[in-house]
Amino acid sequence: MAPSPRWLPHPNPAGSLTPQAPSPHRLPHPAGSLSPAGSLTPTPQAPSPRWLPHPAGSLTPQALPLVSLPCTDKAQWPSKFPDCDGQIQSPINIDTNSTIFSRELPPVVLAGYNLDPSEQLDLMNNGHTVVLRLPGSLTIASGYPQEYRAMQLHLHWGSPEGPGSEHTVDGRRYDGELHMVYYNPSYGSIKEAMKQAGGLAVLAAFLQVGPEDNVHYQPVLEQLREVQEEGKETTVAGFNIRDLLPANLVRYYRYSGSLTTPPCFQTVNWTVFNQTVLLSKEQISLLETTLQGDDDKDLQNNFRLTQSLHGRKVLASFQAALSPSRVPLPDGGVPPVTPTTERSLDEAPGAGAGCPPCADSEKQLGVSLQTADVLAGLFGVLFAVTAVAFLIYIHKQRSQNRSPDSHLKPNVIYTAATTDENAV
Ligand SMILES: [Zn+2]
Repeated sequence: MAPSPRWLPHPNPAGSLTPQAPSPHRLPHPAGSLSPAGSLTPTPQAPSPRWLPHPAGSLTPQALPLVSLPCTDKAQWPSKFPDCDGQIQSPINIDTNSTIFSRELPPVVLAGYNLDPSEQLDLMNNGHTVVLRLPGSLTIASGYPQEYRAMQLHLHWGSPEGPGSEHTVDGRRYDGELHMVYYNPSYGSIKEAMKQAGGLAVLAAFLQVGPEDNVHYQPVLEQLREVQEEGKETTVAGFNIRDLLPANLVRYYRYSGSLTTPPCFQTVNWTVFNQTVLLSKEQISLLETTLQGDDDKDLQNNFRLTQSLHGRKVLASFQAALSPSRVPLPDGGVPPVTPTTERSLDEAPGAGAGCPPCADSEKQLGVSLQTADVLAGLFGVLFAVTAVAFLIYIHKQRSQNRSPDSHLKPNVIYTAATTDENAV
């Protein structure tokens, strides 16, 4: 595949998550729908003990009972893992209009990701995804109230018939999804951290078909054939793991959720980036058609359907909601912020984004005040005209009463009385 020198230009722009035209060769599924070919994948199986836990399902033997559940029968999960039927499960659909903008969400800052090629990373097909083991020296230095250390990364994908991200945005499912999994070292061990609220963190990025190969994914993708069957392992030479994530780590969604496979522990602090990662159609196809699952069939559609929010709030580090009241300013001043508007990396999150609705409000308020002023003026003029007319009427009445030859004067009374009196 022809390598591209760096991140591909985003057509939409910058691959932001918000509604956009789907890739021409694949139509988005309605949220939660499965592809026609689509049996959902495999289920957790007993992984190698040295593999670290991850939200796609495999956990260390010490961390959970080893139960093999058929992937097509997710309804059975809660009977063996009660958390799977809990109130804070993942993945979810992110309704951008319901997200809450928070200025308290700082840019995600990573440390230690540029690994030397001499460092060998384990890559494994665990039967339901491909997992790249990561050294604990990779950390999330900022973006959460506490530091997190890396455990592993893995991918979710669909099939040639349809996309396969776990999270959806406004009902749209993306071609794939990258999960980088971390634990909070303050809990002493991974086993303990995964049981504690906020003990785990996952950085999630959507994969989307773009016009060119993404060279940063090649170290993993070119090894897929080496781990075609479940349980197969190989190694990958160290590379810059940071480049697997979107360029923009400033704009993201944050919510509390769970592992997306049993035991569904509800301890994951999720970060879902707004900017997508572009891979070529060939790279996505390679992901969809190379591996075999725990049933010796093609490993495809390894995503869980979206779960109910049950009242949870999804925070956004940027102004993601598009309120109907927010209209473009006609004078070309501050453009309206739409979810498809990508901003530069050095822009403070939400700094400019919060202004347009304020400006709009002020403008709308200005319009309202002008209208009120005009109406008040009209009523004032009408009142004045009426008052003047009334005064003129009174004045005329009095003038007529004083006139001796007024035809309007009740002649009978005046004349008769005078006449009568004179007559007496
Ligand atoms: Zn996952």
